[in-house]
Amino acid sequence: MAPELASKYRLANVTERLVILKMSQKQQIADPQSELTNPFVLMQRQIDAICEKAKISERCHLRLRECGRELIVHFPVKMDTGQVKVFTGYRVQHNDSRGPSKGGIRYHSDVTLDEIRALAALMTLKAAVVNIPYGGAKGAVACDPKVMSQGELERLTRRYTSEISLLIGPERDIPAPDVGTNPQVMAWIMDTYSMNKGYSVLGVVTGKPVELGGSRGRLEATGRGCMIHAQLACRYLGIGFEGATVAVQGFGNVGSIAAKQLTKEGARVVGVSDSKGGIYNPKGLDVESVVRHKKGTGSVIGFKDAENITNAELLRLECDILVPAAFEHQLHEDNAESVRAKIVVEGANAPTTSEATKALVDKGVFIVPDILANAGGVVVSYFEWVQDLQSFFWSENEVNRQLGRVMNNAFHEVLEISESEKVDMRDAACILAVKRIADTMETRGIFP
Ligand code: NAD
Repeated sequence: MAPELASKYRLANVTERLVILKMSQKQQIADPQSELTNPFVLMQRQIDAICEKAKISERCHLRLRECGRELIVHFPVKMDTGQVKVFTGYRVQHNDSRGPSKGGIRYHSDVTLDEIRALAALMTLKAAVVNIPYGGAKGAVACDPKVMSQGELERLTRRYTSEISLLIGPERDIPAPDVGTNPQVMAWIMDTYSMNKGYSVLGVVTGKPVELGGSRGRLEATGRGCMIHAQLACRYLGIGFEGATVAVQGFGNVGSIAAKQLTKEGARVVGVSDSKGGIYNPKGLDVESVVRHKKGTGSVIGFKDAENITNAELLRLECDILVPAAFEHQLHEDNAESVRAKIVVEGANAPTTSEATKALVDKGVFIVPDILANAGGVVVSYFEWVQDLQSFFWSENEVNRQLGRVMNNAFHEVLEISESEKVDMRDAACILAVKRIADTMETRGIFP
């Protein structure tokens, strides 16, 4: 559904919703372009192309291009005004051949079922490429957490958890934070699930606060993983990491932590941005001060030791490493040509369209694809789940050491396929992932 219709749909009553659905169907028939921008259709095309390249059997291919389970829930929440609002939520499990499903929960006003389906499929590939024993899932509630009070968010989270609790559980499907959710939301999910069970179930979500069974190093893990891949890519390309220049798009959990970690390891972050705009200082930004500035003012713009730039300008900054860490499809066919970075480390999920990938690769840009670059979060989530199940908790050093090991192995396995099959790193990562998933599906067979 087109975004403007989707927002009207969410606010409409039942009769109005039927009218909007009809309008949307008409729009889709009249507009063949909608096929081209539907995130799940795009994901299915990517899976089709990869299954062909990886010579995956038809029966595995057909299963991989659909999501195994999809739940849509509409549930009431008491708002602070006393009014009751009905929210729409989703939980989608794409494929659980390799283990329980795993994937974040997103709170955002524009989420759609097809976006969540595409992100669930991406999670299956991500877990497989770093070789952890999980399938892929994703969940979401269409809401704007920025305009909701803590009380409203807590009531929404607890009701949504109860609604999807027939699907989730430590041995079935383990949610985690994503855009718009955080460790506090994970704590409410864990508490609600535990209250319904009658005992504490730590392993039902990851990304929890450390005092509640969270893992040390989890909050930093996705950004840390991006830093590790930036280092590995620099080493492979013969670019010195010390002093390498970096631009980061998006200054939330992934982007701000990647920027901090990259600086800590010796790179020079020259530009960062958020939804309001960006800042640039060729001598390097003091990232800790930018974090404080954003906390105080709500944006990175206006930072004293930098000039303000637009988001479009940030993406075309001359630098060694570009980390898109905001949202999907930020690098597309209209701006890919102007990218001047040598390496793109995809912190966000699907930040580069397939047209942009082709344009960048043709220009000689080395892309570390999302399913590899931002897998640090799911890897440490896996460590958190293992620690919860064993009630035995690791030091931060141990978590970081194990994360480094997993990321290093995955990078080199993907690189090997990229070189031997003469494909770019995205295709190589996807080939490795679908082969691993297909192997499991073939060995398990089809029930009954
Ligand atoms: P977040 O909400 O913490 O941060 C998003 C940031 O992007 C914010 O600073 C926001 O202002 C900025 N932004 C929004 N629109 C922008 C635009 N047009 N230009 C520039 N900046 C813009 O979210 P997050 O958790 O950091 O996630 C970011 C991306 O990384 C998402 O694609 C998410 O799916 C992916 N991801 C997150 C994790 C995780 O552990 N949090 C793990 C893997 C992947």
